[in-house]
Amino acid sequence: MTTTLLDVNVLNNYINGEWIDVERTTPVINPATGEAVVNVPLSTKESVDDAVAAAKVAQKEWALVPAPQRAEVLYQVGIIMKERKEHLSKLLTMENGKVLEEARGEVQEGIDMAFYMAGEGRRLFGQTTPAELKDKFAMSVRAPIGVVGIITPWNFPIAIATWKSFPAIIAGNAVVWKPATETPIMAYELAKIYEEAGLPKGIINVVFGSGSTVGDAMVQHNDIRVISFTGSNETGSHIAGECGRQLKKVSLEMGGKNAVIVMDDADLNLAVEGILWSAFGTSGQRCTACSRVIVHENVKEELEKRLLEEMRNLSIGNGMDEAVKVGPIINEAGIEKIKKYIEIGKNEGAKLLAGGHELTDGTYANGNYFAPTLFTDATVDMRIAQEEIFGPVVSLIPVKSFEEAIEVNNSVTYGLSSSIFTKDVNQVFKAQRDLDTGIVYVNAGTTGAEIHLPFGGSKGTGNGHRDSGVQALDVFTEWKAIYVDYSGKLQRAQIDVD
Ligand code: NAP
Repeated sequence: MTTTLLDVNVLNNYINGEWIDVERTTPVINPATGEAVVNVPLSTKESVDDAVAAAKVAQKEWALVPAPQRAEVLYQVGIIMKERKEHLSKLLTMENGKVLEEARGEVQEGIDMAFYMAGEGRRLFGQTTPAELKDKFAMSVRAPIGVVGIITPWNFPIAIATWKSFPAIIAGNAVVWKPATETPIMAYELAKIYEEAGLPKGIINVVFGSGSTVGDAMVQHNDIRVISFTGSNETGSHIAGECGRQLKKVSLEMGGKNAVIVMDDADLNLAVEGILWSAFGTSGQRCTACSRVIVHENVKEELEKRLLEEMRNLSIGNGMDEAVKVGPIINEAGIEKIKKYIEIGKNEGAKLLAGGHELTDGTYANGNYFAPTLFTDATVDMRIAQEEIFGPVVSLIPVKSFEEAIEVNNSVTYGLSSSIFTKDVNQVFKAQRDLDTGIVYVNAGTTGAEIHLPFGGSKGTGNGHRDSGVQALDVFTEWKAIYVDYSGKLQRAQIDVD
């Protein structure tokens, strides 16, 4: 192994507060260098069974701990994460490839989420409401569900885990977490932090291993009553089908085909900055990445010119180098998928203005790098304008009017994020009303969510749930209605009303 950043060569599962060795492992590869950095377990169904059994016992006690006391642990988690921010960020860059600046931003999201959800320990609001009958009290409260399963992707290995595990834990649940095999280091580090923060044994359990074995065992397990999943639509639809058959609650956050709209009155310099950041940041491997630019025909040529100029200044390389703005692609399969879409785009008749190829020479030889790519004259029906590519590829689609821009934005099956650059306040308000995505930005790119707002998408991006924000609590709690009759007689609702 090649790193001094980690204190181990092999990661262990974390089950019932113990670090459990697993015989079969696979190497984790740094996508910037091709080097193996640690080995990760390939656990079996038995590890899931152990984790669920421990979680089930521990949760019963945890649910009885007053929520403000549960919150003390989350505050402590936030404090430790803050102290270790730089270390965590470097490890994140090493396993995922995103540039250090973005890794720091992702870790900060986790810190923010810790303090925000700890605050929920003193809220977790329910409702009181008048009862229909005399001498009767009515209220609703949130109740924990029990053991929850969280399954996370490689592209935000720590932020997404905090969006899910913090609300689950503050609400009084126990968690079994399967991180992506590509990026397990953040899970190992977060489990250590939970342990140091004093979270009781069995409340967080990390089981490393493949989706088809560990993930599937979680989905099938009778004692896991909620699955919170973030990942691809293919996996999400499969999980939803399985959960549906078992009447198991499932929250899905999946893909996106996000667009920036540039109107003819836009500040073009600002629009260019927003497009570059949201299209090529994390090498386009964000669910909210800008993959389409819907541009008013009056400013199309000027926008193309300025984008091309600025794209020349993007430094591509190992994200550990502070000067680098675009890091590697997660793996060879990711590169192959992007290459496939470049060919599709060319064959469909879109014009390739920049990039369109893998980078393999010199410093790029051992990593997975792809040149930032710009297509223009794409049309709404093209596959490159409809399907998620998950790489540094953006397609310009010219339109003639505001109404057409909205229509093109809404033409895709996904509904995660959208953005509009304009100075016209009427267009701003119409856009925020008519764009059919779960997140809308005005005069900013398609990325940049804040943790105290609901995160997620409409249409094919999800199934109506949200990660982060107070709304995340809805995934991990059941509403319980409570009626207290203090009349001393049997009062029948709807019948004994005077
Ligand atoms: P993925 O292949 O669907 O994997 C996501 C997670 O599911 C991984 O932990 C994976 O495990 C696991 N998994 C795979 N097959 C499974 C199965 N049969 N049963 C249970 N779990 C299974 O997605 P990805 O490539 O990691 O992530 C990229 C996708 O995530 C993109 O589509 C992106 O848009 C989406 N995403 C969405 C959001 C959002 O909030 N909307 C945020 C980030 C990413 P292994 O990989 O370890 O096998």
